[in-house]
Amino acid sequence: MSWDRIRGQDTARNTFFAAVEAGRLAHSYLLVGPDGVGKRLFARELTKAFLCERPPAKLTACDKCPACAQVEVGTHPDLLVLRTPADKHELPVDDMRAFCAQVSLKPTRGPRKIGIVEDADDFNASSANSFLKTLEEPPPGALLLLLATTTDRQLPTILSRCQVMRFAPLSPANLKAVLATQGVDDPAKRDRLARLGSGSVSRALALDDDSIWQVRQKLVDGLTSLRPQFQALAEVWSKFHEDAGKETGPQRLRASLVLQFLVEAVQHALKLSLGVTVSDLDPTEAARLKAFAQRVGTDGLMELQDKFVEADLHVERRVQLILVVESVLAKFPREK
Ligand SMILES: [Zn+2]
Repeated sequence: MSWDRIRGQDTARNTFFAAVEAGRLAHSYLLVGPDGVGKRLFARELTKAFLCERPPAKLTACDKCPACAQVEVGTHPDLLVLRTPADKHELPVDDMRAFCAQVSLKPTRGPRKIGIVEDADDFNASSANSFLKTLEEPPPGALLLLLATTTDRQLPTILSRCQVMRFAPLSPANLKAVLATQGVDDPAKRDRLARLGSGSVSRALALDDDSIWQVRQKLVDGLTSLRPQFQALAEVWSKFHEDAGKETGPQRLRASLVLQFLVEAVQHALKLSLGVTVSDLDPTEAARLKAFAQRVGTDGLMELQDKFVEADLHVERRVQLILVVESVLAKFPREK
């Protein structure tokens, strides 16, 4: 069954099954959870289940009929998908209007029409406003699915008109199972990526990139060196963002991964300073981190950890990356 490819989101699936069973399906759902936990795949699978021409069971797609194939490649006339254009940071109001106009047309094949807003994090005031009428009174048969990483970023007007459905990060076991299907063949590598992937497939896959580990090495070396060259470190980090291309999504992901590495390095330093062993740590790095911990002291390490976590929040809130990098590097402890 096609639902099998979605792991760890049984609660969300059961909620939909129960709603359909009871005839209480809402018009609009906000699917909320971190990137890379399967929200998009889930929305696609649900769409397929609704539009399938020969469903073998309730809310289950056959994966064989023309409708299933068209949903899979995104060409089904009763499936509408709205995304933020690659060169924009917000959902343009004109795109939103066009989407609403299409949703309002009668379904062409069956009783249902599915509208998916994949980047519901990116509403601005005008695109949100132009969506309200459709969201409030969707045309008969329409189902709207909005995908977002957090409810914090939603305008109250949007939030109040949707049923919120939470998507949790994947467990390490589920994440490893998905990575195996995504071509990560080496089990040791799967373990490492799953450990650092924070329950997100896209995050774990992004970590499968040597350049990320090289930048990590440079930053950790810089952080722990006796005379850190802040300017050089800032350049390494900035270049790393730029190499991700123009899209802000991959840039933010890289920034966030680097900060995660830095938090981890500081946590390792804290543990080592307390005499706790850290497994899987390169002995040279362990020695450097230990010496660093002695120079900076426990309070200094705690402060640094807070700064990195705070910087990661800024990255999530889409503060300009260069400002985040500068603020982090300014917080690196100077030699005493
Ligand atoms: Zn089908």
